[in-house]
Amino acid sequence: MDKRKLVVSTGNGHKIDEIKSILSDFDIEILSKNDIGLEEFDVIEDGETLEENSIKKAKELAEKTDYMVIADDTGLFVNALNGEPGVFSSRYAGEEGNSKKNCEKLIQNLEGIEDRSAYFKTVIALITEDKKVFKADGLCKGTIIKEAKGENGFGYDPLFVPEGYNKTFAELGNDVKNKISHRALALEELKNIINSLI
Ligand code: IMP
Repeated sequence: MDKRKLVVSTGNGHKIDEIKSILSDFDIEILSKNDIGLEEFDVIEDGETLEENSIKKAKELAEKTDYMVIADDTGLFVNALNGEPGVFSSRYAGEEGNSKKNCEKLIQNLEGIEDRSAYFKTVIALITEDKKVFKADGLCKGTIIKEAKGENGFGYDPLFVPEGYNKTFAELGNDVKNKISHRALALEELKNIINSLI
């Protein structure tokens, strides 16, 4: 019998590798949207929450395939900024995916502010072959420092020091990050969900 398949709503190789490694215990073949010929597939993330966006992305992908699908959405929530950048994390400074500008804007908006507490949150929506919807989330608390440090990772990693550490995600590197990050925790919860389905 063919292996059960899981399609991930991304073309991002790093995300796919992380998901493959965390879900490697399962006898499931992980495919990217590109692997099933959906290179052009893109969803407008116009929800007000990570939950809305991840479910919207998963539902639209599930309309295009009979396989099980997952979609994720992540944001950085800074307490002193009422949860900004939140769902707008990838385009905080106006330009989609410009991490340098996003970090600069965050540093500026936190200038003179004492409360530097923040958290990353990831929500992953899973839709089964029979179109049942499940949700997993993961949260990583930390603080935002005043200037970027470290070369690893992406996005806001050079500004984010996770709780219990004194280095940024960008300094700590992937081995540490992949154990404690919002995304890793959400994927662990996803593992429990998949376990309950097989
Ligand atoms: P996405 O939903 O995974 O595309 O994440 C949205 C945005 O949040 C990204 O463009 C990054 O700016 C930021 N982000 C997501 N995950 C991380 C992370 O692990 N570290 C730093 N920034 C992240």
